[in-house]
Amino acid sequence: MVKKNYLLGIECTAHTFGISFIEKKTKKILCNIKDVFTTEKGGLIPTELGKHHMKIAEFLFKKALEKTKINEKEIIAVAVSSSPGLAPCLKEGMIFAKKISSSFKIPLVCVNHCIAHLEIGELTGAKDPVLLYVSGANTQIIAYEGKKYRIFGETLDLGIGNFIDCFARELGIGFPGGPKIEEMAKKGKKYLEISYPIKGMDVSFSGILAKLIHLKNKGEKKEDLAFSMQETSFAMLVEAAERALAHLGKKELLLGGGVACNSRLQEMCKIMCKERGCKLFIPEKQFLLDNAAMIAYLGLKMFEKKIFFKPEELNKADFNPRERTDIVKVEWK
Ligand code: AMP
Ligand code: MG
Repeated sequence: MVKKNYLLGIECTAHTFGISFIEKKTKKILCNIKDVFTTEKGGLIPTELGKHHMKIAEFLFKKALEKTKINEKEIIAVAVSSSPGLAPCLKEGMIFAKKISSSFKIPLVCVNHCIAHLEIGELTGAKDPVLLYVSGANTQIIAYEGKKYRIFGETLDLGIGNFIDCFARELGIGFPGGPKIEEMAKKGKKYLEISYPIKGMDVSFSGILAKLIHLKNKGEKKEDLAFSMQETSFAMLVEAAERALAHLGKKELLLGGGVACNSRLQEMCKIMCKERGCKLFIPEKQFLLDNAAMIAYLGLKMFEKKIFFKPEELNKADFNPRERTDIVKVEWK
């Protein structure tokens, strides 16, 4: 009989479709591959992203099997990012995961994408951090207290990544805009006054976006706009994170989400942590951006605590576009 020793992870919540395998015994991530929907111009249309996932799923799965030399029969369970995210994307991921679960008669683990971003941070060695989670759609200051990941601060409108991507689109840059804006900001010299909306540990970005567009139409240089955008919005995030560290009495800051790839944001966090005597933890880039390894990593923990659907009860498993981080009971810790 073939020994089952590998858990398959699938990421599908938005622009990225990813496949990963983790080894059950060693908890080693054996592969972490993905295909990211990008644009030259314009933004992301959810139904197009869904179609992208549907087309690429089987191909990427086969590629991961080839890469790792894993036999399909060795897969012990399949974990899929089932919440939160864009409905057409979650739907395609769930359809594919259920197909694998029923074909190989293996359990299905439904993983919350945001919590997966946080849990993979453990690999950095952080023990009890405040998490600054800055991705496309999500911007939250989170810490673990009493069996849940509690949200201490968050954006009241756009996620920081979506905000940066919208700003980039105004400058004629396609998706994802973040990395190009970062390069542009390095050439900026003039700091333009824009609003600084932070209330307690909550932030908002739509007002800044409107102001940036206004300044662009008045003829301000795009490099100065990018520079001012980064300095202002990142300062807000660092201030909110510092407030959370102070109130919670915690000594570790962990970064998560794609915007945490930004070297200026990392630098600002480093300065704040040094001044407070805190330690900063930054996961590898492949684990900051949306990825399937984090789904496999948390999926394995949940599988070991038997938090899954058996292949005969797949009709009970569903996706949830709006599940909040602080609703999920963390029963695997
Ligand atoms: P995620 O949703 O976590 O995969 O992160 C994707 C988001 O991260 C997109 O909005 C990107 O524009 C943004 N992003 C990626 N790299 C950078 C960067 N270097 N600076 C700012 N934003 C970035
Ligand atoms: Mg994400």
